[in-house]
Amino acid sequence: MTKPNPFEIAQKQLDDCAKILMLDSDVHEILRHPMRELHVSIPVRMDDGRTHVFQGFRVQYNDARGPTKGGIRFHPEETIDTVRALAAWMTWKCSLLDLPLGGGKGGVVCNPKELSVGELERLSRAYIDRVWQFIGPDKDIPAPDVYTNSQIMAWMLDEYSKIAGKNIFGCITGKPVCIGGSCGREDATARGGMYTIREAAKESNIDLKKATVAIQGYGNVGCNAAVLCRELFGSKVVAVSDSKGGVYNKDGLNLENVCVYKAETASVVNSPHTQPISNEELLELDVDILIAAALENVITKDNASKIKAKMLAELANGPTTPEADAILYNNGVHVIPDFLCNAGGVTVSYFEMVQNISMYCWSLEEVYERLDSKMSYAYHTVLDASKAYNINMRQAAYVVAVGRVVEAMRLRGWV
Ligand code: GLU
Repeated sequence: MTKPNPFEIAQKQLDDCAKILMLDSDVHEILRHPMRELHVSIPVRMDDGRTHVFQGFRVQYNDARGPTKGGIRFHPEETIDTVRALAAWMTWKCSLLDLPLGGGKGGVVCNPKELSVGELERLSRAYIDRVWQFIGPDKDIPAPDVYTNSQIMAWMLDEYSKIAGKNIFGCITGKPVCIGGSCGREDATARGGMYTIREAAKESNIDLKKATVAIQGYGNVGCNAAVLCRELFGSKVVAVSDSKGGVYNKDGLNLENVCVYKAETASVVNSPHTQPISNEELLELDVDILIAAALENVITKDNASKIKAKMLAELANGPTTPEADAILYNNGVHVIPDFLCNAGGVTVSYFEMVQNISMYCWSLEEVYERLDSKMSYAYHTVLDASKAYNINMRQAAYVVAVGRVVEAMRLRGWV
């Protein structure tokens, strides 16, 4: 079976929205393609003395609302089309949260699990050496994404600052707090998603204290989401999974044990006092809330009708295909679409930029409060649009986000 192309999916979602908004064809055509993209070859000296050339990308999708913004992924299966799709989704995400930013994304084809710390540092710095003319605080601001983290952002900040001859904190976000990062950025994606789940639970009549949760994907986002579901709501997390498989306990998992086990063995599989479960089985569990926190295209036309959860929270980017979307909608599953549900990360990244500009640090409480207010407001804006137009939550998120980008393009005189 050929894998769905994420960029074709992103374009299809946009085409659907263009019909609802009755967009002019010229406006629609601009929005269907990235504004600019850079392909780079990155030579890196490996520990064995040889030089390996990695392929990398940076896509700037649309900057009508402000400088482009979005993470950098290090992944063995990275492709230009994945980066294009993610850059498009960043455009809609920043717009939906009403941030003064456009959308972009970067990627390097590599397997960080097979690189030494030294190789990873040299690759991170070399990526910046290749793209630095293209990025900057008021041009395009990278951040962490799949398999990149605050340490990698620190190396990238350092490399960019060395080239510039001065500290430029604003060139990247998701930095460690002691070098211009923001409190609360580490778990911001998961926490932001929790605020939308809390609001969605009111709409779907789910009592979060009694709710059961299954989480597909146990990286930074999935792991934080599990802990937060328990801490903020008292919900019971009964299943989690990673790329190697999953674990289940109907009475609720001991999350601390699962975390320690994963740190020791690099997977949750076989952690004590759990039953094994496959990724496919996890998605079909009879739980109140299903959280997709891994990669694209896991909910497709083949499994969508088997999903029993009342709510699907998409903390990953692009986990659901358009065919699956229609099935979930008909079956009454309340979907919190990706670029709404996972917007907490870029929202705190934006807070980080604001703090960097004013050289002032907000407290953790201030960050949480502002994040909650932005996420809750965005959720209700989408919910209202879905009711007003009688469309599903993803279509509604598109209508709001794309509508704002189109308005910015009109005001600038692009169309
Ligand atoms: N990579 C995250 C995302 O997909 C965060 C992006 C950012 O902070 O710029 O939303």
